[in-house]
This record gives sequence, structure tokens and C-alpha cells, in this order.
Amino acid sequence: MQLTETQNAIRDMYRSYMTNELEPRTEAFESGEESVFPFMKKMIKDLGLDVAVDQMFNSDDSSSAKDESEKPTGGEDMKALADFAQAQLIIEVSRINPGFQQSFGVSVGLCGGNIAMRGTAFQKEKYARPLMKGEKVGCWCLTEPGAGSDAFGSMKSKVRREGDHYVMNGSKTFITNGPDGDIFLVYARNEEDNSIQAFILEREFEGLSTGKPFKKMGMRCSPTSEVFFDNVRIPLENILGGGNSDRDHVRKSLSRERMGISIMGYAIAERCFEIARDYAKEREQGGQPIANYQLIQNRLARMYIDVANARRIVYGTVDSSQELSALDASAAKLYLAEVGTRVATEAIHILAGYGYMEEYKVERLMRDAMLLELGGGTTEIQILTIARHILAT
Ligand SMILES: Cc1cc2nc3c(=O)[nH]c(=O)nc-3n(C[C@H](O)[C@H](O)[C@H](O)COP(=O)(O)OP(=O)(O)OC[C@H]3O[C@@H](n4cnc5c(N)ncnc54)[C@H](O)[C@@H]3O)c2cc1C
Repeated sequence: MQLTETQNAIRDMYRSYMTNELEPRTEAFESGEESVFPFMKKMIKDLGLDVAVDQMFNSDDSSSAKDESEKPTGGEDMKALADFAQAQLIIEVSRINPGFQQSFGVSVGLCGGNIAMRGTAFQKEKYARPLMKGEKVGCWCLTEPGAGSDAFGSMKSKVRREGDHYVMNGSKTFITNGPDGDIFLVYARNEEDNSIQAFILEREFEGLSTGKPFKKMGMRCSPTSEVFFDNVRIPLENILGGGNSDRDHVRKSLSRERMGISIMGYAIAERCFEIARDYAKEREQGGQPIANYQLIQNRLARMYIDVANARRIVYGTVDSSQELSALDASAAKLYLAEVGTRVATEAIHILAGYGYMEEYKVERLMRDAMLLELGGGTTEIQILTIARHILAT
């Protein structure tokens, strides 16, 4: 897959920024010594993304929520380049620190992006703009202690209407950015008609609280916690899109989340492959580089096949002007998440004892990659989704 001159320039610019700015901070982020959120705001500004966000919100179209598929057809080249830049940013961040991407993707994409796409003019200005500029930290709250894979069917968090407010009770768990969140996009069941609706809550709303950060296997710089709602009073104006949000909107969000996860899987695999290939050429055992041994070559060749296939899927999808179907999003997510864990594990085999040490990075990338197989729908849920779609025709 050949990148154009402009695409190469975008990639090089992001890569050098992440190498010079994100990499040196990663240890402090992982240990919890430094929070990721001030840097997130700085990165958005340094890369000029805040200007792009302001342009988007100030444009004539900003008053009406538009889905990707509803955008005007003019300026396709610019749109294609913007889509490429967005995907390449996820790749370059994830090559260095997938945990940072986890927090960034949820705050700016799942929380901010969903409000920008589905919210009312008031909600976009008050919530989406500061979220997408990194001035506020956002959370996307669907999972509950008893409602994981069956998020809708088993959802217990409830709202009831009381005059000019809704009142919410319940709890969510495994919420990315929960401990630091300013704005929470929360899905709850409306007691009146049993429908699931999305609400925008602020940290300051009385009755909203968050738990302590969970201790996790990976993605350690991305804080995760429970979120509790104890008779939280929510103004009517904070129902997402004025009440027009529905399950279809969540399904579209999930498809986008799955594509983001797929890109992360590719990025982790690509970085781990490069680290392992370079190490194999340097490391000598028995008087020669381990890359000379065919058993090591076998691992490297198979890792390359995974990375090359992943690259074709990622760039092929980014190039497409069509929104990805739920079937293809699930298929990409399942495959690329597995590529991420598989190639990262292979890299540890090649580096052996050194691969097990933090200094060589592949152990962290492998731990981080594991979440990609669980979040945004587990492997089993992707298989069920794929099977449902292929058998429906
Ligand atoms: C670090 C981290 C961050 C997260 N961030 C967020 C977030 O920001 N917002 C949010 O809403 N959620 C978040 N999640 C939650 C995540 O999306 C869920 O963990 C995931 O959806 C699975 O739910 P569960 O863990 O309850 O597993 P369960 O649903 O209990 O699944 C347990 C096992 O049963 C299998 N299973 C379940 N149902 C079926 C079935 N019908 N057929 C076959 N097998 C089945 C599953 O595949 C799995 O193997 C996060 C999770 C983690 C770990």
C-alpha cells in the first residue's frame, strides 16, 4: 500500500510528534505519576486539531447534526484526506501508547463525537466543542455490572420524568476516563416506555459519583472506574439530540468504535513486528544473529503476513467513501484485535527474556492489545454478529 506524498507528510509529522512528545511521557503515564489529560489538551493544540474543531463548529452546517453518510458529496478529496489523517493519528498514537489512545478515543470520539453528531445545537456548543478540543474529559457509559455483552437487554439504569427534569438511578462499570470525567454520555432505560435513551450528565450534577480507578492488566494510563447515579436530576435539554437518540445510534457508535479498535490492533502489530525484526538482526546467539535461524524467520514471516493483511484492511477501509457496515466492522474488529495480540505475543517469543522486561516495550503492547479482544464487544459477540448478518441474506 503506497501512501501519496501528502499522506506520507501527515504520517511523518504525527510520527515525529509522538516519538518526541508522547514516548518520553509514557512511563510517567503508565505508573500514574502523571495524568494523560493535560497532555491530551496540549497534543490537540500542538497538532492544530483545535482549530479544525472550531472550523467544524463554526461552519454553516454546525447547527444540524450530520452523520458521515449524510455529508455533502463535494470536496471528496479533502474528506478522504481528513479521514486518512484521523486514522493515521490513531495509528501513530497507538504505536507508542495504546492506553493513551483508549482515553483519547473515548473522550474525543465516543463522547464528544457522538454529541457532535447527534446532539442539539446547545449540546454541541456546550459539550461537544470543549470535549473535542481536549478542554473537558468525556466518558461513554453503556456497560453495567450485570449488563456487559447484553448491554441493552439487561440494562438496569433507569430514568423517570419528574416535571422539567429526568431523574436517573443505577450504575455503570468499566467506564474509561471515569475517575477524571467531566462529562458523561449515559445510556439508561426510560421507565415510561422501556426505551433506551442517552443523556448528557456533568460531574457537578448532584448524585453522580465515580469509584476509584481499577487496577488493570493493561491500558494502565487510561483510568477506568464505576459511575453511580443516585437520584441525579437531569434537565430535559440534556437528553441527547432532544430525545431522538435510539438503539440505532448506539449501534452506529459501536461500529465506529470497532473500526477504531481495529486500527489500534494494526498499529500494535506493526510496532511489535518492527521491534522484533530489528532485534532479531542484532541479537547474536551461537555466534550469529538469531535472524539467521529458520525458526525465527518462520515467526517473522508469519508476523509480516498478519501486519500486511491488517494494513490492507485498515487503509482499504479508510479510503472507502461508504460507511462501514455492521458486518464488516465486526469482521475487521475480530480479525485485527487478534492480529494485535498474536503479533505482540510472537514479538515476546523473539525477544525472549528481554521481551518480558518493560524496557523493550513489547510486554506492555501485548497487555494493552488484550483489551482490544474484549472491549467494544467480545470476540464471541463479534462472531455472533457476523453469523447473524451472513445468514440473514
Ligand atoms: C479497560 C476497559 C475499558 C472499558 N471501557 C468501557 C467504556 O468506556 N464504556 C463502556 O460502556 N464499557 C467499557 N468497557 C466494558 C466492555 O465493553 C465490556 O467489558 C465488554 O462489553 C464485555 O462485557 P463483560 O465484561 O461484562 O463480559 P460478559 O458479557 O459477562 O461476557 C463474559 C463471557 O461470556 C461471553 N458471552 C456473553 N454473552 C454471550 C453470548 N450470547 N454467546 C456467547 N458468549 C457470550 C463473552 O464473550 C465473554 O467471553 C470497558 C472494559 C474494560 C476492560
